[in-house]
Amino acid sequence: MAADLRVGHGFDVHRFKRGRKLILGGVEIPYALGLAGHSDADVVLHALINALLGALGKGDIGSHFPDTDPRYKGISSALLLEQVLKMVKQGKFRLVNGDITVIAEKPRLAPFAKKIRVKLAGLLKLPRQRINLKAVTTEGLGWIGQGKGMAATAVVLLAKTRRRR
Ligand code: MG
Repeated sequence: MAADLRVGHGFDVHRFKRGRKLILGGVEIPYALGLAGHSDADVVLHALINALLGALGKGDIGSHFPDTDPRYKGISSALLLEQVLKMVKQGKFRLVNGDITVIAEKPRLAPFAKKIRVKLAGLLKLPRQRINLKAVTTEGLGWIGQGKGMAATAVVLLAKTRRRR
């Protein structure tokens, strides 16, 4: 029988704000600005969560964790990811791999890419080779180029787990 595979795509944007920590993929990045948001505004994990929910056919991050709910104020997005991974498991799926692109003019993420990847692999319980992280700029164009905020995209592949005999 053919494998039951589901692809999911996620996209997220947050604007920079003073006085906030910059958390990307669960890792705190030293930078003068953080991202504004109801939670910790981890744009990488939000894109990843949206991709997982997309593959499951279960809406988006806002419908599961509304930004009007005080329970999620300042929450670590790693905890939201944990809940979504439970949904993956309950749906009898497993994550095959994920590919993330961060779109930002600043800060340069190359020095932190490995640390973020290791963190993501840990959160996802995946070998590091199965989670990829890329960073691009917009060559100075548009609001990202002007350093007003950053964006991230994620693609994931889920596979139905085999039934136990
Ligand atoms: Mg978000």
